[in-house]
Amino acid sequence: TATRRSLELTKTLTEARTGSLLHAVDKTRTAAGARLLATRISAPVTDRKVIEGRLDLVSWFLRNDATSSDIVALLNGTPDIERCLSRLAASRGGPRDLLAICRALVIGKDISMRLLLQGIDNNAPDIVSLANDARCAASLADSLMPALADEMPLLARDGNFIRAGYHSALDEIRQMRDESRHLIVALQADYAAQTGVSSLKIKHNNVLGYHIEVRSLHGDKLMADPQFIHRQTTAQAVRFTTTELAEMEKQMASASDRALAYELKIFDELVAIILARSSELEQTALALAALDVATASAKLASEFYYCRPIMADDTRFIVLGGRHPVVEQALGDSTPFIANDCNLKDSVHLWLLTGPNMAGKSTFLRQNAHIAILAQAGLFVPAERAEIGIVDRLFSRVGASDDLARGRSTFMVEMVETATILNQSTNKSLVILDEIGRGTATWDGLAIAWACLEYLHNVIGCRALFATHYHELTSLTVRLSGLTCHAMQVKEWQGDIVFLHEVSEGAADKSYGVHVAKLAGLPPSVIKRASYLLAKMETGALSDRNIDGLLPLFAPPLPEPQASDEGPSALESMIEKINPDSLSPREALALIYELKALDAKS
Ligand code: ATP
Repeated sequence: TATRRSLELTKTLTEARTGSLLHAVDKTRTAAGARLLATRISAPVTDRKVIEGRLDLVSWFLRNDATSSDIVALLNGTPDIERCLSRLAASRGGPRDLLAICRALVIGKDISMRLLLQGIDNNAPDIVSLANDARCAASLADSLMPALADEMPLLARDGNFIRAGYHSALDEIRQMRDESRHLIVALQADYAAQTGVSSLKIKHNNVLGYHIEVRSLHGDKLMADPQFIHRQTTAQAVRFTTTELAEMEKQMASASDRALAYELKIFDELVAIILARSSELEQTALALAALDVATASAKLASEFYYCRPIMADDTRFIVLGGRHPVVEQALGDSTPFIANDCNLKDSVHLWLLTGPNMAGKSTFLRQNAHIAILAQAGLFVPAERAEIGIVDRLFSRVGASDDLARGRSTFMVEMVETATILNQSTNKSLVILDEIGRGTATWDGLAIAWACLEYLHNVIGCRALFATHYHELTSLTVRLSGLTCHAMQVKEWQGDIVFLHEVSEGAADKSYGVHVAKLAGLPPSVIKRASYLLAKMETGALSDRNIDGLLPLFAPPLPEPQASDEGPSALESMIEKINPDSLSPREALALIYELKALDAKS
């Protein structure tokens, strides 16, 4: 879980979908396809046959470009069989679910025909089997379609969703209902003639039901006639009913009720027919989703130049020209992403990566984790070439994440996650560790990172990328034969640094932290002071103990930087020279005046 979260597979650390790996590689057209892709990325497989099968499909669609475009067009807007089915099974479905299933089945059949045409030609067994799955329930559409009207109400109880002509008994009841409507129109004409009020209308509302309405000035005429029973007088109109009208309304209501009851009965029968074939429907749904994922991956591969990974049973992890799928797309066309190689194999299976902040260490680490995940999800990868010995488990500890809600500090979380990695990884695992130990005091952190690195090398023997700020670790290459050093390249230019984002062999010579702090906009006086302190530390003027003492939490407050940061100020030098025991009170007073004058000058 920690690995999934830290690699931002389906959502980012801030819970957003944009910025996740899934968002960058998802070109699917249907909700079911998107769900299948998310599942595959969240749970990559280790079965080489399954992976190769999925990759074969992508390759097939890349080769058969025209068929791929046709399938994509057909898939566009395909209803979600799985969701409709689960609603119907839970008795929460409506008439629209029936129509949606029918439409999806018809599309499935079209897709199937298109694939079979091409698949049989190319002798592609996987394609033929998907094509068969996509139409295995097609006959259901033939029996459902004639029952369903063109316009579907949201709820079954709204009625009128069964097509006229489908069921004779229902047609008869509907006819009775509709005839009553004609009778009402005739009755209105009758009453108008009897009363001589040509504007007399028979209307319907929810309070009175069917009623006769005349304008106020004709009210008395109807009042005088005993067949009209007064119901309501408003400012504009007077409303009446008659026993004849009430009787007719009763008949109409009962015809409508009977028609609706009949429709609901037919609806239940249709749902039962669908549920009886739910396993075939699921098979069709899965085939359509798999086709969506495969065509989408082919589209991604051709649009963004992804390659088919070569899967192997050994423990190589060789990526040439690898790119970070999310960062690459985020940079857009204006800034090119710098591709980098990663070459882990039996003899050298651990890379120690050094380089300044912002140089791209985390990006490099994550991109290789993403490439492993995409490959084992059965998708193409953002690289020129990738050879991947199947990874049994991927572990990643990247960046700091607090878990304060559960009462664990950042460092504690880091250590718990590192413990999981060291306890659970095997020699077939891929481990990504970013700056282990930085959450504690320098020497503790270095010691922990050192010991972890040795453990990964000597005990586990897995493939690992280990990014660190501890340059001391680079000396371990002498003792650990499977370890090599790599560094993010930077250039110094007129006192500033330029990040090249290139990974090359060797260790970084400097950490450039102060330069990065300057880029980030720290106040100039802080930058000057930090440069001064750094120079002191580098020349050994501050002892090891003092360096620890300078760590922010435990340090006594640093003296305020003076005008001249290159060394002690005149005031400081003078104070340094004073020996209070040898001063007379007079000399002390004179000295105070002198110091005040000096202070005023600086
Ligand atoms: P820190 O140690 O502070 O976490 P880092 O070395 O891990 O820094 P990243 O976060 O990986 O640095 O990269 C910083 C930024 O540099 C990225 O957001 C990206 O914009 C850019 N970048 C990284 N790698 C590349 C690359 N290969 N090509 C182009 N730009 C890159």
